[in-house]
Amino acid sequence: MEFVFNPEPPSSLAVHGSEQRFPVRRIYCVGRNYADHVREMGGDPRTEPPFFFTKPADAVVTGGQPAHYPPRTQNLHHEIELVVALARGGSNIAVNDAWEHVFGFAAGLDMTRRDLQNDAKKSGRPWDTAKAFDESAPLSELHPIAETGRLENGRIWLQVNGELRQEGDISQLIWSIPEVIAELSTLFRLQAGDLIFTGTPAGVAAIKRGDKLHGGIDGVAQLSVEII
Ligand code: MN
Repeated sequence: MEFVFNPEPPSSLAVHGSEQRFPVRRIYCVGRNYADHVREMGGDPRTEPPFFFTKPADAVVTGGQPAHYPPRTQNLHHEIELVVALARGGSNIAVNDAWEHVFGFAAGLDMTRRDLQNDAKKSGRPWDTAKAFDESAPLSELHPIAETGRLENGRIWLQVNGELRQEGDISQLIWSIPEVIAELSTLFRLQAGDLIFTGTPAGVAAIKRGDKLHGGIDGVAQLSVEII
């Protein structure tokens, strides 16, 4: 096939212990999936079901590259998250089958223009400009599930310039990884290459140019990125 111009190659993630890379198809994100973060955003974890938004695949920043501070915000926030990568897709995946679809895990940052998100919430408008901007998805390398096992617990944390800002545990997820995959698959036909950001624990805050972010999930993956 001949294109009218040369398309960019797909975004991809390094795979720990492999020469091969994981091609990214879509990026789905879960909103409000840790009780303490739901409370800090003014919600009630018992009454609000999870909801989803997306980022474009080419928002990925990887390989220790810095991320540029985006335009049109004065309130860029960090959200450290466990990211699930899918090896197999499907629709209406049963909770009990969901682990069979997982390729592995990464640590990711759901970078957020909080001021634009707050404006969007107030006016009932979409979140795209708040969540889906360029370089809004820094990611670590992927660790295959064969290496990590099925994740049900593990400390998730983020330091900014060496100072602890966010801390939680995967066991505190309101909706577990299999439940998230099952629910998402009722809304979209999932496919190999899809990534799912599973939500952030409490402690989100503003960052500025020059800040160094370092975070991860104990026993799984670590991520470092500088904001320039
Ligand atoms: Mn998030």
